[in-house]
Amino acid sequence: MAIMNIDNNNTNHHNINNNNTNKTHILEVKDVSKIYGSLHALSDVNLTVEEGRWLSIMGPSGSGKTTLMNIIGCMDTPTCGSVHLDGQDITRLSLSELTKIRRDKIGLIFQQFHLVPYLTALENVMVAQYYHSMVDEKEALQALDRVGLAARAKHLPRQLSGGEQQRVCIARALINYPKLILADEPTGNLDEANEEMIMKLLHQLHEEGSTIIVVTHSPEVSQHAQTTVVLEYGKVARVVNNHID
Ligand code: ADP
Ligand code: MG
Repeated sequence: MAIMNIDNNNTNHHNINNNNTNKTHILEVKDVSKIYGSLHALSDVNLTVEEGRWLSIMGPSGSGKTTLMNIIGCMDTPTCGSVHLDGQDITRLSLSELTKIRRDKIGLIFQQFHLVPYLTALENVMVAQYYHSMVDEKEALQALDRVGLAARAKHLPRQLSGGEQQRVCIARALINYPKLILADEPTGNLDEANEEMIMKLLHQLHEEGSTIIVVTHSPEVSQHAQTTVVLEYGKVARVVNNHID
């Protein structure tokens, strides 16, 4: 999986696809900036991602990775520019409208697992069901089974290893069969064996058709993606195709 074909074009528009024009775009970020006072956290970012693609976002600390993920993940809005998700213009929606879209279309995986500490693994998954539609214990157990944790369903987060907690998060993210999976440093707190297990799960989801966007500091994690987008100072510095197509 050698990195080749460094696309450093000057048009500042980055089309992330495998030249299959029949595929629809799940994400279109156009001229997006996020400005805090005089600080440009993002500056004229353009990205087009076709459905089913696996993308990684890399860049030094402070380069705007989380800001971009928050905007794509319907947790924040840009100062200017536009964002289309699954054909819908989400640029100027209210927070409650964004929340609904997030629940329907997006599965979020974080570095800090964000599990509710006093709920069991099973209950943590069921909370996600509650917010999405209806609580269904059997389905929640199936989701835990998918990530190899059926036997840990009744454990509290503190009784689980870091890798197991991250797998609960993935089970929770899968509950609504999300079209788009966003993971911000999903293996940042994990050892190598657990990282491998999480990457295997992401590969499974990708094979099932999910679009995946992973923010990572790790070149190894980034290599799993078809395309790597490098952010620097809030701009897309380059796009690298990893030639896994
Ligand atoms: P990364 O995830 O790549 O480390 P971030 O997206 O978190 O970077 O941040 C990009 C820049 O925007 C940083 O300089 C950060 O300090 C700034 N920033 C992020 N969120 C805010 C905020 N709510 N208010 C002010 N500045 C912010
Ligand atoms: Mg960050």
